[in-house]
Amino acid sequence: MDYETIIGLEVHVELATASKVFCSCPVEFGAEPNTRVCPVCLGLPGTLPVLNKRAVEFAVRAALALNCEVHPTSQFARKNYFYPDMPKNYQISQYDRPLATGGYVEFEVDGRTVRVGIRRVHMEEDTGKLLHEGVEGGSLVDFNRAGVPLLEIVSEPDIRSPEEARLYLQELRAILLYTGVSDVRMEEGSLRCDANVSIRPRGSREWGTLTEVKNMNSFRSVERALAYEVQRQREVLESGGRVVRETRHWDEGRGVTFSSRSKEEAHDYRYFPEPDLLPLVLDPAWVREIGEKMPELPAQRRRRLVEEYGLPAYDAGVLTASKSLGDLFDRTVKLYDDAKAVSNWLMGEVSRVLRERDLDIERSPLTPENLAAMLRLIDDGTISGKIAKSVLEEMVDTGKEPRAIVEEKGLVQISDEGQLLPLVRRIIEENPGPVADYRGGKKKALGFLVGQVMKETKGKANPQLVNELFRRELG
Ligand SMILES: [Zn+2]
Repeated sequence: MDYETIIGLEVHVELATASKVFCSCPVEFGAEPNTRVCPVCLGLPGTLPVLNKRAVEFAVRAALALNCEVHPTSQFARKNYFYPDMPKNYQISQYDRPLATGGYVEFEVDGRTVRVGIRRVHMEEDTGKLLHEGVEGGSLVDFNRAGVPLLEIVSEPDIRSPEEARLYLQELRAILLYTGVSDVRMEEGSLRCDANVSIRPRGSREWGTLTEVKNMNSFRSVERALAYEVQRQREVLESGGRVVRETRHWDEGRGVTFSSRSKEEAHDYRYFPEPDLLPLVLDPAWVREIGEKMPELPAQRRRRLVEEYGLPAYDAGVLTASKSLGDLFDRTVKLYDDAKAVSNWLMGEVSRVLRERDLDIERSPLTPENLAAMLRLIDDGTISGKIAKSVLEEMVDTGKEPRAIVEEKGLVQISDEGQLLPLVRRIIEENPGPVADYRGGKKKALGFLVGQVMKETKGKANPQLVNELFRRELG
């Protein structure tokens, strides 16, 4: 039987405000436990929440970037439940009157555009965090995160495969980064994702029973967990069983989802309007202004890179996926006009070197000026492309100018025939086998001989010239 996969995602993302959503405690990742707290976020009796305007601004900006309708009036609500990481025993959230509804995100899959609807975007506060590790006979609780502003973004069940789920999340992440409303660091927990998954026979109009999958901590684990869950449901149905509606946790280590009771399950949250906060009424002029000041979004940048610089769609996609990589591209092509060369270096060597050093572009001393200068050194024959790779590494490590690196390390390319010819002749003498191969028609043998010269010169010989000299000498 051919099944159709139906996935909807609920994403929680931390807004990058300086302070919490209902008090003035600073938001900081990694601070000493319980040092960024006050009576409000600790839920002490008699305290009152005061809404952070910047958090609302960020939420509105994100909602507009997600093509949502932002409602002039929305309402905070209490979501009541007991859990030790939440001192008030309720979470301030939004329920039947969310901030925004009816948006969408578009992205490309194999050359076709997929549109995933956004059902709703609402604001809420984060809870504290329980610490179990290294604690004997109990758990500890850290309330630093309690009251950090969150945006919950709920998609329509428009996602049709685990791969689409990953691509949707990546596009969502890019949009949130471009709008500057969140740093979206999944490993620090600033983007968390739950999924509703069901399958049904292709062509059927009825929904299958869904399961909720939780605890997916990276884009890769989202794709793996969903692929596992889809397959599991298929096997249940094919063996004549029924999928049970339940919450399942993803176990990254074992690569399986397992049934689990969760704190939310089977609870009635008894939502009611938050009596300590007035309805949130937005001035339409303010919302319009936020829309007008919207920075360039990923989809716009992708289009621009193709139209303005003639880049292939693939390049535009890679350069746009990371805002900092796209920014570096934009700044470098202003200084060096071969856009495709800049793109190749950024997608290839620059990304590799940064990845090896576990560095973000923002945190590396690499500048567009130095990158452009390095490309010009290749063009004028001062260094080979190969040497440029080690110059780039040095630029990333030290922030030095490429010319200074080349001079300091004596990396100038050898393009002097008088210097290279004796070496070429010696290599011919020392390698009668490959020479005979080449003369016998194995053109590949030339690569080996050129490689020997490059090795002897530590990569400094001009490879075009060395090729030419060998052809001449062996011709
Ligand atoms: Zn506080």
